[in-house]
Formats: sequence, structure tokens, C-alpha cells
Amino acid sequence: MAHNSISGPSPVYEDYTRCIHCGLCLNACPTYRLWNLEADSPRGRIQQMFRVFQSEANSQAQPEARISDGFVDHIDKCLDCRACETACPSGVEFGKLVEHARARIEREYERSWFAHVVRNFFFCDFLSASHFIEDAARVFRFYQRSGMQAVARGIGILKMLGLAERDRLLPPIDREFFFNRFGSTFAPVGPRRARVAFFAGCIANVTFSELNEATVRVLRANGCEVVVPREQSCCGALSAHAGYRDAARDFARKNLAEFRLDDFDAIVTNAAGCGSTLKEYHHLFSAREPEYELASAFAAKTRDVTEFLAELGFTAKLYPLRHRVTYQDSCHLLHGQKIREAPRRLLRAIPNLDLVELPYSEICCGSAGTYNVTQTEASLQLLAEKMHHIQSTVAQTIVTANPGCILQLRAGVALRNTNQNVLHVVELLDRALSSD
Ligand code: SF4
Ligand code: SF4
Repeated sequence: MAHNSISGPSPVYEDYTRCIHCGLCLNACPTYRLWNLEADSPRGRIQQMFRVFQSEANSQAQPEARISDGFVDHIDKCLDCRACETACPSGVEFGKLVEHARARIEREYERSWFAHVVRNFFFCDFLSASHFIEDAARVFRFYQRSGMQAVARGIGILKMLGLAERDRLLPPIDREFFFNRFGSTFAPVGPRRARVAFFAGCIANVTFSELNEATVRVLRANGCEVVVPREQSCCGALSAHAGYRDAARDFARKNLAEFRLDDFDAIVTNAAGCGSTLKEYHHLFSAREPEYELASAFAAKTRDVTEFLAELGFTAKLYPLRHRVTYQDSCHLLHGQKIREAPRRLLRAIPNLDLVELPYSEICCGSAGTYNVTQTEASLQLLAEKMHHIQSTVAQTIVTANPGCILQLRAGVALRNTNQNVLHVVELLDRALSSD
């Protein structure tokens, strides 16, 4: 079934007209910084979305008359990084607007047959079933570990097919999948200070198992009992960002049913992209819908792992790490959740760690969900600029707070051959838990 209608609340006139055209967001916008085009700025995109909104409200024009190729192109090129929200003095909720614009595009615009089938499958079916993710992961693991990838790279076939860049962005598949941990409960080390439900993500369970394991260890070391609910599902972020609102709502319903809120002090995630969506589950439902209240309570209980640990207080002993590190803000942590200090505070708690501020760390690295696959060229341009700034810090390790950013930055390290480590904040904390 195609999940491409627009369900739940939609932006109203005031959501668009809140933009006073001041332009304070322009310099914060990665795509405006790249191309210097008003149509690829937040202000320009809002104008285009407003015109589509007005044309729908005021005329009987056919959908294809309202959604032009140009409109789709400018909306597709937006990273949905929400840096414009942070910069905006007028409180424009850009993420909400662009997600609805994308939902409208999915409903009214005819993409190629192939793009339509692939997008429908990925955003609705693939992400919803762990067996699809595990099967695909096994195929890719074979490709990576059997030597096929090395051969394909060596004989240049990936270049001929135009797949070389995408191949570099392919995450290494884990030997063990974190899906095996679903349904487990992990006891705290020492007296229990909190009981948390761990939200483990979807694709991260086959590409970031070690990060998930490290997250559990760090939480346990700080007195948390950690439960990994068995039937949890993808958060729906990728689908919502791509305009598949119904699919995102289905994911939300599954998680609302699976996480028993009264049993936990918090729902904890290590993925800023997921956390941002989980904290906005109530935006997927209108106040009249039966899910709204539970979605609001779910959102209120969700915490990024760095936010949670900083609030709870880090009590486990940390051993010195003689390392120079720099921190890249994840857009959905900084701009989506307004969390800037918590990860830095945790990093500063590690003895001897030399934390160097990264110039322009608030600008997107170009990962942005599936952006590095769908807009590879722009993504690589942003990555090149990011790596330039990272190199100016002379850091041995790059730290961030979102699996997607980790993958992108690892690709940057490989492309530039800088030999740096790229880790999540909790992975560094996990390393500092032992004296080795
Ligand atoms: S979400 Fe990011 S890329 Fe999109 S308009 Fe805002 S700042 Fe620019
Ligand atoms: S900063 Fe806000 S109000 Fe000003 S142009 Fe950008 S979106 Fe509009």
C-alpha cells in the first residue's frame, strides 16, 4: 500500500507568514552557503511553499500545475537540517513546513516509475520490518567481507556505473546484529538510579551494534537498568522527512504500543535524528486523534543519551584519555532538540581530554538522513568543507552524536586519508570507563 497521503495536522496560513523576510537565516543555511541562490535558502523555500499553499487554498488548479519540477528540486535539495530554525528570530518552524511540502510532493508529483517504487518500498516497507533490514545487511556484509567490494573498487566497475561515491558511503555491516538484544534487560552496575527503555533505531542495529552496546554499558555504569523493548520499530524519521507521513504515523503507533511509559523514567536514544522525531511524535497526530495524548507523553519522556546522562549526573569513574578531539554538532541534536552543552559537558568530564571547538560545527556535514544518497554531489561538497574545518583543529578524533553523521564523517576521513577516528560521545565515554 502506498503511504503517500497527508495525514495529521497541516501548516496553516500563519505558519508561512511568520517569516518576515529578514534574511537572518541565510548564512546559517548550508545550501544557500553553497550556491548563493535565494530559491535554495530558507526564506526562498518558504516563499515557494507559501505559493503552493495559496494556490491549493485559492484555486481549483490541477496538482501538477501547483507542483513544478523547480519546486521539487529546491525542496529536495533542502537538508531538513533546521539550522534556519535556530537562526530565525520569528519562530518559523521550518522542519514542519518542509515535511509537509514533501508530503504534498509525494501525493501530487509524478516521479519516475522506478523512483516511485524504490521510495515506496524503502520508506514504507523496508524500514518497517527487521527481517528486510537483516537480509539486506547479510547481502552487503558478504559483499564487503568476501573481497567483492575490493575487486569492484579495484577494476573500476563502480566508477563506470557511477556508484563509486555511494559505495564509499556504504556503512560497514556488523558481524553481530543488535536485533539479537531486543527483549533483553540489563542490570545496573551498583544501586539502581533509573530505569530506562533503550530505543535502538532500525538500520543502526546492523551498522552500529557496537555503538548500541557501548550505550548500554555507559548507562549501566551510571546506575541505569536498561530495557530494550522487543517489538520496537523504526522511529519514522526517514519516512517523515521524505514526505511519507502515513508510514511515519504507523511507525509511531507501533512504538506507542510497545514502550510502556509508566515502567520507565525515560526513553533513551543515541541517535539525534531519531530523538528529534520521537520528541515530536505528537506533531504527527492532530489533537482530535486518539493517539495525540499518548504521543505527547511519549515525546516528553524521550531523551537523547547525552542529555539524559548530563541530567542524571555522570557518577561512573572516568580514566584519563590523552587525546585531542573536536565535536561536530549533529543538526537534529542542536537545531532539532536545542541541545548544545550536554555532549560538551560529558566530554569535558573525561580527564586529560583536549576538546577543541570546531569552527562552524553548527553547519550540517551533508549526511542528513538519505541526503548523501539522493543528493550525493551537494553532500560531498558540504563534507569537503567540513573536513577542511576539522583539519584546522588538528584533532585525532572527531566526536559527534548521531550515527548518520558518524558515517558521513568516516567517509570524509577515508576520502581525505586523514587517519582520524570518528566516534559517538558515548563511545568515547565507554573507552574512558576502563583504564586500558
Ligand atoms: S533546513 Fe537546512 S538546508 Fe533546509 S532551508 Fe533550513 S537551513 Fe537550509
Ligand atoms: S530568519 Fe526567519 S523570518 Fe527571517 S527570513 Fe529567515 S525564516 Fe524568515
